[in-house]
Amino acid sequence: MAGLAIETEGLVKVYGDTRAVDGIDLAIPRGGVHGFLGPNGAGKTTAIRMLATLILPDAGRARVLDHDVVREADAVRSLMSLTGQFASVDEDLTGRENLRLIARLYGYRGAAATRRADQLLEAFGLADAADRQVKKYSGGMRRRIDIAASLVVSPELLFLDEPTTGLDPRARNEVWDIIRALVNHGTTVMLTTQYLDEADQLADRISVIDRGRIIAEGTSSELKASVGSGTLHVRVMRRDDRDAARAILTRELGVGFDTTHDPQALVAGLDDRSGVTRALTALEDARIDLAQFALGQPTLDEVFLSLTGHAAEPGDEGEAAA
Ligand code: ATP
Repeated sequence: MAGLAIETEGLVKVYGDTRAVDGIDLAIPRGGVHGFLGPNGAGKTTAIRMLATLILPDAGRARVLDHDVVREADAVRSLMSLTGQFASVDEDLTGRENLRLIARLYGYRGAAATRRADQLLEAFGLADAADRQVKKYSGGMRRRIDIAASLVVSPELLFLDEPTTGLDPRARNEVWDIIRALVNHGTTVMLTTQYLDEADQLADRISVIDRGRIIAEGTSSELKASVGSGTLHVRVMRRDDRDAARAILTRELGVGFDTTHDPQALVAGLDDRSGVTRALTALEDARIDLAQFALGQPTLDEVFLSLTGHAAEPGDEGEAAA
């Protein structure tokens, strides 16, 4: 059986005083989307650039699709593609010209290069814009042509570095659909993002990186479960019932409920959700009418805050200068 998609041990990259990547160990299986999540400056791009053989590690080792990124860099390059934040399509050329050029570089000849370009333009919803210069594309179209350019030859592994930074919600959804389709066709995707909802939507598993180190790993649900089972929001119909409801909830769930400025509301964080159904039945038995009884999962934002002590706010929205 083939080995892992990505395997690293103690991978390090130092820039002056900054340990941009400070000893990371990864074991990422083939297939699906692996999210690499962290705030600005966490070390995501530096790690990806080492894995994509663009820069050399200062220490540690990394294997991509069973090949060492230093000693077998050519083999790694032949199996993977990288779509960077600032991909290398030529803005003065049209979409079709760009893709045809790349197809030729990969050995497609004449009509075959044009056919491959047209297939990709069609697949990425760019057929109507095929003969327009890329510099006249919208942000979403630009990102789609970037991804298309990295798929002229189907890679086994695609590194997508912040593919939706600066895009509006509609364009982001379009890019997400493209990523899902790729994965359905068997490509392994390593997705770096500073958007928690993006990792939540797309990633099968997530590695959280902060200050050059991996600080947590797991599925989105596992990461959320690691900070508790969520928050129970209860709202009674009659404010006179609130104290009775609070006593019942505390008895059944074993946690204290807080009141809020809303005189009918009660809220508590739960470590364990096993008593929730019983608590609801007990409120009904006591004839307490409810306007709301809702258990919310913690958000990845809460997870990030709890792991790092700081929020994962993207510091610098939009497209930074290269
Ligand atoms: P972003 O989300 O902003 O792209 P990131 O997680 O990709 O952030 P990196 O770009 O890997 O983070 O940067 C990690 C750290 O290394 C930062 O402190 C950055 O300033 C520093 N760094 C990255 N590249 C270089 C470089 N070529 N020279 C000097 N410092 C660098």
